Amino acid sequence: MADPNFTTDDAGIPVYSDEHSLTVGRDGPVLMQDHYLIEKMAQFNRERVPERQPHAKGGGAFGRFEVTNDVSAYTKTDMFQPGKVTETLIRFSTVAGERGSPDTWRDPRGFAIKFYTEQGNFDMVGNNTPVFFMRDPMKFQDFIRSQKRRADNNLRDHDMQWDFWTLSPESAHQVTWLMGDRGIPRSWRHMNGYSSHTYMWVNADGERFWVKYHFKTDQGVECLTQEEADRLVSEDTDYHVRDLWQSIDRGDLPSWTLKMQIMPFEDAVDYRFNPFDLTKVWPHSDYPLVEVGKMTLDRNPDDYHTQIEQAAFEPSSMVPGTGPSPDKMLLGRLFSYPDSHRHRIGANYKELPVNMPHAATVRSYSKDGSMRRDNPGDPVYVPNSKGGPHADPAVAGDPAGWRTEGGEMVREAYTLHEQDDDWGQAGTLVRDVLDDAGRQRLADNIVGHLLDGVTEPVLARAFDYWKHVDADLGAKVESQVRAQQGQ
Ligand code: NDP
Repeated sequence: MADPNFTTDDAGIPVYSDEHSLTVGRDGPVLMQDHYLIEKMAQFNRERVPERQPHAKGGGAFGRFEVTNDVSAYTKTDMFQPGKVTETLIRFSTVAGERGSPDTWRDPRGFAIKFYTEQGNFDMVGNNTPVFFMRDPMKFQDFIRSQKRRADNNLRDHDMQWDFWTLSPESAHQVTWLMGDRGIPRSWRHMNGYSSHTYMWVNADGERFWVKYHFKTDQGVECLTQEEADRLVSEDTDYHVRDLWQSIDRGDLPSWTLKMQIMPFEDAVDYRFNPFDLTKVWPHSDYPLVEVGKMTLDRNPDDYHTQIEQAAFEPSSMVPGTGPSPDKMLLGRLFSYPDSHRHRIGANYKELPVNMPHAATVRSYSKDGSMRRDNPGDPVYVPNSKGGPHADPAVAGDPAGWRTEGGEMVREAYTLHEQDDDWGQAGTLVRDVLDDAGRQRLADNIVGHLLDGVTEPVLARAFDYWKHVDADLGAKVESQVRAQQGQ
């Protein structure tokens, strides 16, 4: 009785050998008619999809989100109603590094979530920081390039990082975060996740609210020092991927409590700073956190490529009861994420099992295209009188939108609110949140980073940058750098 576990080619045809090519005689030339050899080589050459640009290195897991509080006064979204449980997928990542880069570089971490809701897939593409380096999508591409590699020698370069940052003062809040204790999480389990962007919630009465999502780690925030992180770069490049995998594998399931900041719609008009500016947080004293539910990760992927590498998260996937805000960075990302998936995975990326809805049914008119698996069939157009699906505003709800003032088309910064500035919240973090030891570590991290290849006049601008954030911190950074340069 033959072993039924025999190798086949991709057409299911049994193959003769796993090890030997078809040749003319034992030592002869390899024959082109060996279609199995050609299939193996050709398939291998096409194994990689383009890596993400940025957020290439990451890992993830499946889980569930369970609502524990009643927030129906603020949103009609089905997945946020009391007691609701929704399947989720999360992908964590670093930003600047490539697919094989170390997990413990100083860098923000991606915190991307897909909720497989009964109203369709709802994605949130957040980070482990509540703010970002800029507020206009026009600068994003330049920012990412400045954090990656030079054109001439393909090396990362602190000089170009600081060159960009010091010429972009709106980066000060995020750079303070990045250089501080929370710049390198101990593990993905030990960091918070933030939507960072402001979104909209709409309740059953059509009332609108501006909201920010905060996923607070139930494991507690824990971070690595620069020394620990540097050691791990050489000891275990995949330290965070391994930690998450092993933790779930042994049944130690990580969880996060989702809390919201909720701003009444009209508050945004004359709030003391622009609430849609991605470089700012809303102070908790103004908008306290309201608990919503708990997200628990309970299932490792069993196929990294198809479930994590090909997972496609896009902030444009918003379900009824949720919507965007006038945050310009968010509005830019609504286009760029699906665009990058079409390039990276292909036009029909939403047909892959990890990206298709798990709890809702697709009734769209999309058809054909490369690698299409299944077509909806006739009719292929709408409107039709042939029984095809038709849009129902009663199900979709009003577009979660807002009134705009109109006016001329301009390329200008946001309208300034009373307390808009680039340095204030970074300074608050330094003076009011950090203790003396935290402030010293922050200074040490900045000094270490600046001494690693940053040249004049960028260096002088960096001292100025930190003096704007906090005069003492700036003076300390300058004197430490100058002292070490003089040695
Ligand atoms: P609060 O005093 O109400 O809260 C301070 C916040 O700082 C907490 O969320 C805390 O997170 C976080 N925090 C503690 N240590 C650090 C650190 N080393 N690096 C970064 N964050 C840290 O402050 P406000 O709401 O008035 O905001 C003051 C400053 O706190 C802001 O300028 C911002 O930099 C920072 N912050 C504010 C957040 C917000 O949404 N309002 C969120 C996170 C930070 P935890 O509770 O998890 O310990």
